Amino acid sequence: MSQTTPLENHWMPFTPNRDFKARPRLTVKAAGMYYWSEAGTQLLDASAGLFCCAAGHCRPEITAAIQQQAQTLDYVPHFQSAHPLSFTLAEKLAKLLPTGLDRIFFTNSGSESIDTAIKIAIAYFQAKGQGARQRFISRERAYHGVNIGGTALGGMTNNRRIFGGVGLPQVAHLRHTWLAENKFTLGQPEQGKELAEDLQRFITLYGAENIAACFVEPIAGSTGVLVPPKGYLERLREICTQYGILLIFDEVITGFGRTGKAFAADSFGVTPDIITMAKALTNGAVPMGAVAVKRDIYDTIVNHAPEGVTEFFHGYTYSGHPLACAAAHATLDIYQQEKLFERASELSAYFLETVFNSLHDLPIITDIRGYGLLAGFDLAPTAQAGMRGAMLQKELFWSGMHLKTTGDAGIISPALIIEKTQIDQLCQLLRDVLKRF
Ligand code: PMP
Repeated sequence: MSQTTPLENHWMPFTPNRDFKARPRLTVKAAGMYYWSEAGTQLLDASAGLFCCAAGHCRPEITAAIQQQAQTLDYVPHFQSAHPLSFTLAEKLAKLLPTGLDRIFFTNSGSESIDTAIKIAIAYFQAKGQGARQRFISRERAYHGVNIGGTALGGMTNNRRIFGGVGLPQVAHLRHTWLAENKFTLGQPEQGKELAEDLQRFITLYGAENIAACFVEPIAGSTGVLVPPKGYLERLREICTQYGILLIFDEVITGFGRTGKAFAADSFGVTPDIITMAKALTNGAVPMGAVAVKRDIYDTIVNHAPEGVTEFFHGYTYSGHPLACAAAHATLDIYQQEKLFERASELSAYFLETVFNSLHDLPIITDIRGYGLLAGFDLAPTAQAGMRGAMLQKELFWSGMHLKTTGDAGIISPALIIEKTQIDQLCQLLRDVLKRF
């Protein structure tokens, strides 16, 4: 048990509570590429927190912006009132986003962004007089957050087992894009483009006139970094355009430089109609998410309502929260001033090769994948699926590293400020710990 912290009352999310509380792993401090545990151990952060802290932890510029904002205007609702920072932030984001996606709705998380995007899609087709478009397409092994809409879209077994049938029954899942023949491929795999034809099959089955949108993570992140096969996203785009279905990229993980460009849409050269984002938008310092939509979607919904009447009955008390806006402004300034997206692109080959060279010969490793500054590796599972991944996460913590694991996969997604020497250290430590397994 922790010597100083009472552990009983907090019901921890996505955690085996009894196991954690029996031997807690508490983190008390962070700076740059590192965390420090309660016991004072320094931990190399291999996951940018949870894909959030792309500019490194506790950046003084972000801290100062939050502090300044908290002293000036702590909160004002965005329902029929507002403050200027959310507008200037939306303008700044629009300049970063692919051309045409320049209308921004603010939320407080990735999950809220997903459920907001679902409602935008429904409202859009209602306004267009195509109200029958109520079905959604997503993909096996997808993670779209934990709200009711996102859970229905999601394709992770544990997340769906109990809740998958709640809400949004009309979701069909494309096959995931992991293929055995692509094992140990870095970058986009050659095989699998034809998996996009699943969308065509659902259109034949349900009728395009009943389908609102197709949601995909450009790279499926939380299920172990599944990089899209060459031509796959392009084909989804073609089919969606042909049948008037909205293509929605969930860029909660891939947004803000993770793939070497501002968004994965830029890296893969495929422009969706809507992008959901969160996490690195504020460098993780204050919760915030956003949904960017093409101008036509905004115009269609907004112009449909009579003048003076609220057009979209949706929003959160904390949409566009002043502290989140201040943090996001400071974060986006850092990304730009330090050219962190370009940095990620330049570092990518070194990062991926080092991960590969350090791990691929270990018998326990069954696959390695990656793109940009994002890499995933699979561990040979034991009889109890997920146990190895959980063990690795714990072992690494006690050995000086914070790493996100999911099932029996590990995900490396360091802050974009990582140095080559830290990539070496990270991979060496990972190798050493895995060799003990
Ligand atoms: N979508 C994707 C692709 C994600 O990776 C996540 C979180 N890992 C979410 C949505 C949900 O975000 P949040 O946990 O902020 O609600």
